[in-house]
Amino acid sequence: MHPTLAADLALLPELLQSASDFAAHGLSGVDERPVASPAEAPEPDPLPTAGVGARGALDRFARRWEPGFSGSTGPRYLGFVTGGATPAALVGDWLTGAYDQNGAAGGGSTVDALERETVGWLRELFGLSGAHGGAFVSGATMSNTVGLAVAREWLGERLGVSVSRAGAAALGPVHVLSGSPHSSIAKALSVLGIGRDRLRPVPLLGGEREAVDVAALAGALESLGGRPAVVVANAGTVNTVDFDDLRAIAALKERYAFWLHVDAAFGAFAALSPARAGLVDGLDAADSICVDLHKWLNVPYDAAVQFTRRQDLQVRVFHNESSYLGLPDGTPDFLHLTPENSRRLRALAAWFSLTAYGREGHAEIVERCAALADRLGEGISAVPGLRLLAPVRLNVVCFTLAERPTAERLAAVARAVAGSGEAFLTPTVLRGTPALRAAFSNWRTTEADADRVRDALARAVEGLSAAGDA
Ligand SMILES: *Cc1c(COP(=O)(O)O)cnc(C)c1O
Repeated sequence: MHPTLAADLALLPELLQSASDFAAHGLSGVDERPVASPAEAPEPDPLPTAGVGARGALDRFARRWEPGFSGSTGPRYLGFVTGGATPAALVGDWLTGAYDQNGAAGGGSTVDALERETVGWLRELFGLSGAHGGAFVSGATMSNTVGLAVAREWLGERLGVSVSRAGAAALGPVHVLSGSPHSSIAKALSVLGIGRDRLRPVPLLGGEREAVDVAALAGALESLGGRPAVVVANAGTVNTVDFDDLRAIAALKERYAFWLHVDAAFGAFAALSPARAGLVDGLDAADSICVDLHKWLNVPYDAAVQFTRRQDLQVRVFHNESSYLGLPDGTPDFLHLTPENSRRLRALAAWFSLTAYGREGHAEIVERCAALADRLGEGISAVPGLRLLAPVRLNVVCFTLAERPTAERLAAVARAVAGSGEAFLTPTVLRGTPALRAAFSNWRTTEADADRVRDALARAVEGLSAAGDA
């Protein structure tokens, strides 16, 4: 063994303790560290020839890289939809690395049963029936990709071809219909050989709504003349967290042949709030469902779950055929269900958090985030110079400048807020109007944090006026 490696082996308990102390110190200050990093990235170092050992690496990390890390795990990083990591989820994630199990299949371990138990808990959390099988993947993009891959195989089944054997071209042109799809849907269609251009937008309900007009969707399906299609319904759009009427869309299956995929990346968490669960009414009727876990479940990157009612088709797509892996029968091993072969045991962090806090603890995070979004929405309405672009439906506040809401002026507001270290928000465009979004999904965020974000915004808008123009 290399002497540095041997020395580290002898020191392993002390090294883990040092890493733990370092992380504990960093996290104890996360409420106050600048939310977006002001630091420039260091120049790349050459590949080390003789290494410095784990302690030396920790020192170097502390000096060169840690200062440039954002406070994204803290309470006022409201860009994109960015969850944090609950204490138990972090413990689970560390142990995932420590035990370094391969989640591909059992292989002399009970890890596959642990993943199945966790998938079952998640199914229950989101109100899904036992008809949905599921597996962990790396994020909602991958979850959408898996769901649409199963959809593609289903289209083949309807048309009498095997896509997994003959390729996507055997399908001819595919029709994918959606109201306000997330950008990852187009990416998934590109990856799957269906093609980004096959995504056909369906008109939305009027006014500020981002939900699909179900009558227009029915019309679009009618115009296909009986050709099977894929419908991507959206449960929680990123700009204004609008929800398609899932029950009404599912009811269209009585008249038209389509695969219903629901992107519920963070919207599925509405199911945890009795007052808001109606937003995802009908979710169980989907053929495949995407739910992100590194967002509102607050497990560390990267984790999401995908569900489908047609695991048989999923195995056709992802079956890993080889003499030593054996044929899946009964309960398929996870390597036959997802794009990966060897896989990180992502389920463990979710298992820890669900075990530690239960349905009640996670429901409290959802309720609190929704209440904080309401609070910031009210606060922003009271800031002269700002106005809401949509009502706060769940956990995102979408707003713009009352006067001259140009992309440049909104970017100046976002920069000023980030530069103050107080908060981080991301820009968007809603029906042609440049806007900013504040998304709540972190377990740490409090009312005081929401008020600090409002104050930072008010100062940034004042600065804009003081500067005359931007
Ligand atoms: C975040 C998000 C995605 C993509 O999620 P990743 O985890 O970043 O891959 C897809 N759909 C919706 C609705 C999202 O909010």
